Parts: sequence; C-alpha cells; structure tokens
Amino acid sequence: MNLTNFRFETDADGIALATWDMPGRSMNVITAQVMAELHQIIDAVVADAAVKGCVITSGKDSFSGGADLTMLQGLGREYEKLKAKSGEEEAMRHFFEESRQLTLVFRKLETCGKPFAAAVNGLCLGGAFELSLSCHHRVLSDDEKTRVGLPEIKVGLFPGAGGTQRVPRLMQTGDALQMLFKGEQIRPLMAKTMGLVHEVAPKAEIVEKARAWIRAGGSAVAPWDAPKFKAPSGKVYSPAGMMIWPPANAIYRRETHDNYPAAKAILGAVYEGLQLPMDLALRVESRYFAKILRSKEAAAMIRTLFLSMGELNKGARRPKDVAPTSVRKVGVVGAGFMGAGVAYVSANAGMEVVLVDRSMEAAEKGKAYAHTLITGQINRGRAKTADRDALLARITASADYADLKGCDLVIEAVFEDPAVKAEVIAKVEAAIGPEVIFASNTSTLPISGLAKASSRPDQFVGIHFFSPVEKMMLVEIIKGEATGDRAIATALDYVRAIKKTPIVVNDSRGFFANRCVTAYLLEGHKMFLEGVPAAMIENAGKLAGMPVGPLSLNDEVALDLGLKIARATEAQLGPDAVDPGQKQLLVTLVETEGRLGRKNKRGFYDYPEGAPKRLWPGLKALQPKTLDPDAVDVTELKHRFLVVQALEAARTVGEGVITDPREADVGSILGFGFAPFTGGTLSYIDFMGAGEFVALARSLEAKHGARFAVPENLAAMAETGSTFYGEAAKRAA
Ligand code: NAD
Repeated sequence: MNLTNFRFETDADGIALATWDMPGRSMNVITAQVMAELHQIIDAVVADAAVKGCVITSGKDSFSGGADLTMLQGLGREYEKLKAKSGEEEAMRHFFEESRQLTLVFRKLETCGKPFAAAVNGLCLGGAFELSLSCHHRVLSDDEKTRVGLPEIKVGLFPGAGGTQRVPRLMQTGDALQMLFKGEQIRPLMAKTMGLVHEVAPKAEIVEKARAWIRAGGSAVAPWDAPKFKAPSGKVYSPAGMMIWPPANAIYRRETHDNYPAAKAILGAVYEGLQLPMDLALRVESRYFAKILRSKEAAAMIRTLFLSMGELNKGARRPKDVAPTSVRKVGVVGAGFMGAGVAYVSANAGMEVVLVDRSMEAAEKGKAYAHTLITGQINRGRAKTADRDALLARITASADYADLKGCDLVIEAVFEDPAVKAEVIAKVEAAIGPEVIFASNTSTLPISGLAKASSRPDQFVGIHFFSPVEKMMLVEIIKGEATGDRAIATALDYVRAIKKTPIVVNDSRGFFANRCVTAYLLEGHKMFLEGVPAAMIENAGKLAGMPVGPLSLNDEVALDLGLKIARATEAQLGPDAVDPGQKQLLVTLVETEGRLGRKNKRGFYDYPEGAPKRLWPGLKALQPKTLDPDAVDVTELKHRFLVVQALEAARTVGEGVITDPREADVGSILGFGFAPFTGGTLSYIDFMGAGEFVALARSLEAKHGARFAVPENLAAMAETGSTFYGEAAKRAA
C-alpha cells in the first residue's frame, strides 16, 4: 500500500488499525487522495485472509471536519470546462459520477464483507461522520470536545455521501429530518441516545472497544442490508408514514419559505430513498446532490459562510507588518447594556477585565450580568460552578479610572453623546500607558470625529459590537482617518480571541451593517404608510429570507432609539436626510402612544405576559389608507426588501467604506441576517448579475422613488457585466 494520510498496522489478533493522520495539517479533511487511500485500505483488508476486520481512528485531536469544500468547488469548474468542450450532457454525466465518489467508497467499505469499526474522538462532521455511519460499529469518545453531526445544510448543501439514507434508517423519520435540516453538532451521550453510535467510552479506550467488538465477531452486514430490515418509522406508504410526510412538508415550508433548495432535496432524498434498497437509495441521493452542488445557493453560501468567513476569522484583513498582539487585560468603560456584554465575552475568553462605570453600584450591576449569563450556561449543562467562580474572579468592577492601569486595550461603551465620550477618552488616556489601544463601541458617531478628543488618534479605533453581545457573532472594526495599523491589528487580534468574526470598514455614518439594516426598517415603514397590511409586511420580510419582519426588528431595536437617531441625523445633515412620513410614524408611536418597542412591551407588537407577541390592533388606525391584500404584489415586496439593502451595500463599496466584498457578505449575514441563501448583500447582486439587478432596481425606482437609485459604481458594473468579486480581484492584482 502506498499511504501518506493513514498509518496502517495489524495486531496479533488480525485486527487492522487505520489511523488517519494527514501530514502538515492540524485537522484531517477528505480529499481525493484520502478517498484513494481508503480504497487501498479496504482492498488490503479484504485481500488478506488473516485480517478479521479494521478499526478506523484519527491520529489527531479531532477525527475530521469533513470533505474539502474547495474540492467540491473544483468539480463545478471542471463541469464548465467540459460543457464548453463536450456539451452539457457529457459534462453532467462526468459531474454526477465525480460528485458521488465519496458515496461509492463508503458503500464499498460497508459491503466489503469484513467488519469495520470507527473509533471517533473530537469533531467528526459532514463527510467524516458519513464515513463513520458507513462503518458497522461506532465508538465515540466521551470527552467535552467530541461532537458529531452533519452541518452541510449550513453552507447550502446536504449530506450527500449516504447521510440522508443512513440517518433515517437509524432513527424515527421525524428525528432524522430534524437532524438533517438543523445540521447541529451533537454531544456524545445525545448521539448514543439518538442511535447514531453504539458505544461511548473514555478517549483512551475507544480504539480498544472497537477492536473488542471485531474480536467478538461483530457483523460485517449493515442493518439495512439484512433481509428483514425495517426502517424505524416503518414504510413511507403506511398510516404511520402518512402521519409524518404531510407535516414534514409543511414544516419545511415554514422554516425555509422554499428559499433553500438543499432542504427541499433532503425531503426528496429521504422520502424517495426510504422506499428503495440501499444502493438505489444512494443513487437517488447522488442525483439530488449533483443538482444541489451546482445550485447558485450552494455556491453563494459555500463562498461566504465557509471560505470567506474562515479567511476573515484567520485575519485576512490584518495588517501584515504588525507583530501578533495578545490582549491579556482589557478595560471596559461603561457597564451598561453593551459594556456588560463586552466584559462577559472578554472574561469568557480568559482575559482579565476591569469594568468601570460612574459608580461602584453601576459597575457591579454590569458584572452581575456576567453572573446571570454564566448561570444560564450552568443550568443548560454547558458550564460548571467552578467556571462561574473563575469567570467572575476575572472581572473587577470599579468606579476608579486608575484601575485601568496595566490594560492592553480599553473599550468604551458609555452614553452615545460626543461630550460624554470626549470626557471619558481624556480620563482613560490619563490612566493608561502611552502605547495602549483605545476603542469606541459607538454605533452612530464617526470615529474620526471622536478621535479628535484623543491625544493619540493613531491608537484610536472603533470596535462595534452588535446586541446582544454574547450572541451576535459579528464585530465591525472601524478605521478612522487617523487610525494606524497597530490599532487595527490589536482590534483584530482581540476579536479573534473572543471568537467572533471581524470585518474592517472605513469610517462613515452608520458604518456598514446599520446602514443596510436601516434601509430594511425604512422599507417596512414605507410599506406600512402605503397601506400594506402589517402582517403582510412581516411575512414578506420572512419570505424574502430575513430572520424577522422589519416591524418586529424595529421593536427589538427600540422605537425611541430609532426616533432619536432620526432626529440626530436631521440635526446634522438637514431635513432631507430623514423621511418625513417615517419620522411622523415614530413620533406618533413613541410620543403619542407611548410605544417604545419590546422594552416596554408595547411597540408595533403587543407582548402579553406568558403569550406570544401579536401585532397591535391599533396599527390600522395609523395607516393613512389600507390596500386590499389580494391586490398587493408579494414578489415585489420581497424584491424591495432585498434590493434596498443590497443597493446600500453597493453604495458602501462605491464610497470606499467597504473595500472587500467578503466583508459585506459575511457582515450582512452575521450582522443582520440578510437572506443567507443569497450569500450576502453583494453576492445577491453578483449571482443575479449586475445587469439584471440594475434593471430590477430601476423599475423599483420608477415606482417607489430615489432610494432605489443605482449608484454609479454598480451602473458601471452592469455596463461591463462585471461582479463585485471580479472587481476586487482586479484591484488586488
Ligand atoms: P447604556 O445606557 O445601557 O450604558 C451606558 C453606560 O455608560 C451606563 O452604565 C452609564 O452609567 C455609563 N456611563 C455614562 N457616562 C459614563 C462615564 N463618564 N464614565 C463611566 N461610565 C459612564 O448604553 P448601551 O446601550 O450599553 O450603549 C453604550 C454604547 O454602545 C453607545 O455608544 C451605543 O451607541 C453603543 N452601542 C449600543 C448598541 C445597542 O444595541 N444598545 C449596539 C452597539 C453599540
């Protein structure tokens, strides 16, 4: 055998051990070479009569994260080449055969006639978990880091190497569909309860347990290949099956609004596959997989949510010349809603935190938030009381700026008032060393303006968190006019340490994410004033792919905050900067009706105690007219929501606020949930094609006004047929 990615040895009992341990990589990944070596291993085990069976394990901390997605992307490029050369049919045939190579090698293992057992530790996800599922026996390590799962759906794919066929043959169909739709990582004991693995054991014993199973005569026939096999939920066409499939279809629609072809393919593959013997079922799955792999949704989601996000997390935008920095002690000034969250995530990442507010009481209140959050984790079994003690010991609450001494980074989250911020900046700079980086968490005030209050503007940067800090994965790093590379590098290193995803944007009002999301809110208000029924507005937002409707989102943000920002914008930029109808709507809601949003349980919605929120019946009286719902074009509403945000994103590129399309795309999905199936605000345009998008925007402009006007940079792209990613590649070259 010629193996580089596996070690292969056989013990005295004739049990082989294949240890997957790819040289030069921290994590095993399925590549074409790994597949070829798996073939060799299976052949060797089968060929040698002295070998009874084989255990597959990993030589690394984790089993494997799954298939190399760039390999799958490569198949798409090959398809295009072959299509040009030999025609579509030939290209499709080749693509189909190539995209099911993993399925075939796993099926070969499963039917080779000798027992295979997987001994799994650490992460075992996607294609790697499908490999384990094709083994006849699975032993899982019981340690904290071990997780199994099929997360493909999160990048617009589905488990296409047997996952959709083996999982529903191991558990009830409803549970299987949930698992495939959600793509969650599953802990060892849960995996055992679900029937996904046979044994859970201490890490040091997994290989021995797997060997013992083979030694004891473990069967080389998968349950579904046994003649009398019955799927746990019985036949599809049966009274029990009819209890499952109609609701499954309804749940799919409710959860996806039919925007995710991969989720639909899961339904089809499971439904059809369960009616067939395994080999044919796998063929059905492969057909769906080849189709989904070529979908624009998968291409967009793989690019943004896997490749770009990974690159940004690894510091793609970090200034290269600055040596790595390590933030051990961080100061947080302002222990309110945001500051308390920042203190928690920093302490949770192991940093010492000094949390300063105007009074000891306010600072302690902020620290108490960390206590509440970690107690919630303990109650969910995700942390221990000792973790809470250690975490709280790392946070020092204080009313004395002098305690900031020794901090490597200070982040302010005080009131959104330039005068208060200027005073805080001066006080902090008097307390900290001359080299310390200072960051502001302002959401609306330009960083370059705030930096004027600093004596070291090159060390002044924006670190803009989203609320709630502990949940939101995006952080915007704002580069002011004077911000230097060391400040950017430190901010990026800090964000990496707290395990969030950073994007670097140039200074502008609203930076990036809030500009786009504000356009979404405004569009909701505009529709409301046009007379579109409120429920229809909310549903159209969700149908378009947004996680919540615009009115609901407005309630979360707080209506009075919206009004305050509108007034501040008007004061600084003049009356034309704010839509008068929108302002009047907010004034009526906030000042006449006392409706501030979720925070006072009264906004566009009512929030009755112990019952789901519901749209406030008084809304209708605030609409100048009402449209007949049947006369409203829902497709146009959906377009308006996405187009208005994408146009704003395109403007940020034109203005140089966003310099890298990956950041707009990742930022829009993580920051405000922009329809993930599109790949983000700029990918939405790129995948539609600038020409088609511009035509759509112009038709909306003719009907709805100047907010749909196409910025020059985008109009030029439509002329030349270029894309944001193409333009960025040209700039980088
Ligand atoms: P908040 O009112 O909850 O908290 C502000 C805190 O700052 C209060 O505890 C207050 O006592 C303290 N403070 C005021 N002056 C101080 C001083 N001189 N020294 C020390 N502490 C002082 O406000 P928040 O919602 O946490 O917002 C804080 C900042 O974060 C603002 O700049 C805001 O724009 C920004 N921000 C807010 C959100 C959000 O959703 N709330 C999101 C992103 C950014």
